Amino acid sequence: MARKFQGDKLVIASHNPGKLREIAELLAPVAVGVISAADLGLAEPQETGASFRDNAKLKAAVAASLSGLPALADDSGLAIAALNGAPGIHSARWAGPKMDFAAAMERVERALAGKTDRRASFLCALALCWPDRQGTDGHCEIFEGRVDGRLVWPPRGRRGFGFDPIFVPAGHEITFGEMDPREKSAISHRGLAFHRLVAACFEKA
Ligand code: IMP
Repeated sequence: MARKFQGDKLVIASHNPGKLREIAELLAPVAVGVISAADLGLAEPQETGASFRDNAKLKAAVAASLSGLPALADDSGLAIAALNGAPGIHSARWAGPKMDFAAAMERVERALAGKTDRRASFLCALALCWPDRQGTDGHCEIFEGRVDGRLVWPPRGRRGFGFDPIFVPAGHEITFGEMDPREKSAISHRGLAFHRLVAACFEKA
């Protein structure tokens, strides 16, 4: 059985404003005070893992050990079928040091030139780690989520973040960039992973 979160303060091990906004909304139903790693001045570790799970665990474990508090990290990205799963765990890097997602989306479109297969998925791994060593995976609990869809061009919508304006989830006609944030979270990779995390580790307020 998963370890329950029993404290009243949780560090969110992310410096990405788009992710932080979605995470704060997804955690709203549970009574926990959240503080970001950026607010605590914690440095971001290098993402050296070979999977979303490894990188989420690495980021949360470092934040838990530096802060002495339980920490939650999200590692996520876009996997494109015709590119054998790229950019995958390197999704943030496709935007370069200035996090330029207009350029990252153009890079995706260039890489897909001449290909008819537009299938893609967003994947998310969440790791909740404690500063001590208990829990089913050392001192971490890990949950995953995935949403399948297709890529469109040109980008549409100014909501969301990252690759949202070019991703249309299966069964829908609008992009994540055009979608109401609550509608996105109800079906997104992050929303599904949070649903699993909250069910396993949190009491609802
Ligand atoms: P990470 O900080 O290494 O997990 O970077 C994840 C990257 O994946 C983000 O910078 C975005 O490029 C992309 N990404 C992850 N989740 C989403 C999403 O919900 N919408 C759009 N892009 C996302």
